[in-house]
Amino acid sequence: MTVAEGSQRLSQTQPRGSDLRFLHPAWLHRTNDLSSSASAFPGLKARSSRLPPRAASSLLSPAIVAAIIVALSLAVVPKAKGQEAIAPTNEELAGIAERGRLLYEYDQAAWHAADAVQLANPKAVEGQLYIAKKENGKWLVVFGKLNDDRSRFAITYQADEQATLRLFAIHQQRGEPQDQGFFLYAARAMDLALQDFGRTNRPYDVAVLPAGAEQLYVYLYPAQTQARVYPLGGDVRYLVSADGMKISEKRQMHKTIIENQPTQHAKKAVAGYHTHALSDLPEDTDVFHVLTQDTPVSEIVLTPHFSYQIKTDGTIQLEKDRKRRK
Ligand SMILES: [Zn+2]
Repeated sequence: MTVAEGSQRLSQTQPRGSDLRFLHPAWLHRTNDLSSSASAFPGLKARSSRLPPRAASSLLSPAIVAAIIVALSLAVVPKAKGQEAIAPTNEELAGIAERGRLLYEYDQAAWHAADAVQLANPKAVEGQLYIAKKENGKWLVVFGKLNDDRSRFAITYQADEQATLRLFAIHQQRGEPQDQGFFLYAARAMDLALQDFGRTNRPYDVAVLPAGAEQLYVYLYPAQTQARVYPLGGDVRYLVSADGMKISEKRQMHKTIIENQPTQHAKKAVAGYHTHALSDLPEDTDVFHVLTQDTPVSEIVLTPHFSYQIKTDGTIQLEKDRKRRK
C-alpha cells in the first residue's frame, strides 16, 4: 500500500473537509470550523481521574495556578511501584523541548509550504504525501508519492523556506526525481505508522523527524480544525528503523483529546494545565502545544510524581517533586 492509499483509508471515515492535511488545502486545518468532540478518538478510556474532568485542562489565572500547584502537591499521590520515581535529568528535559520545537517548526513548514503549492495549483499535489526536512537551518518540504514496491519516492514539488517559516518558494520538479534517501525512508515510516494507527474519525497530522542512530520519529497528532482551538492529546510517537521498514517503539503520548474552546478570559490566562497518567515525563507534543498557539500560553503538566511548567519559549522546568512535598 502506498502512503497516499494509507491516508485515503484514514480519511474515508472522516467528515467532509477534515482529511489528513496532505489531502486537503493546508489552510483548512487551521481555519475551518468543523466541530469535533473532545472524546472523538475511538477506543480510548476516560481521562485520568486524578482531577475532576472539567478542571483537567483549563486556562488559569496566576493565583489559581499557584493554588493548584500547592493543592496537588499536598494531595495523596499513589505510591510508585517499588522504587521512588526518579526525576528526569536536565538533558532529558532539553531533549523533549528540542523535539517539541522541531515538531512545531515542521508543522509550520508543512502548513505554509502546502499553502504555497495549493495556491499555485490546487490539484497539483492532491493525494500526495509531504515531508519536511531541516537542512542548514532552513526547512524544505517535498511533495510526492511512494512507488508500488516502496523502493523510490517520486518528488513532484519542492518548497524552500524563504525569510521566515511562513514563506516558501515552490519549484515543480521536472521528471519527478526518484529519491532513495531520507524522503524515501521518511515516506515509508509515515506509511507504516499510519497503517498501525488505523482509522480515525477526526483529522490527524503526521510529521517525521530524525531520531538518534539514523532512526526516524513519526508523530501522529490531531489536526486543528477550529480557529483558536488547539487540540492536545490522542497522539502517538513512533520510533522507526532507519530504512523506514520497522517500528521499533510506539509511544502513546496522551490518550484522550482535549479541545478547550477559547474563552473571553483567555487574555488574562497565564497558563493551561493537564495531567499525565501514562508517564512521569512531559511529552514532545506538550511543547508543540504551547508553541503552536497564536499567542503561546505556558502549560503545567502534572504527572503522578512531578509537576512541570512548559514556558512560552518551549523550555521545560521541573517545578515540584510532588511526592517529596507530602
Ligand atoms: Zn501532556
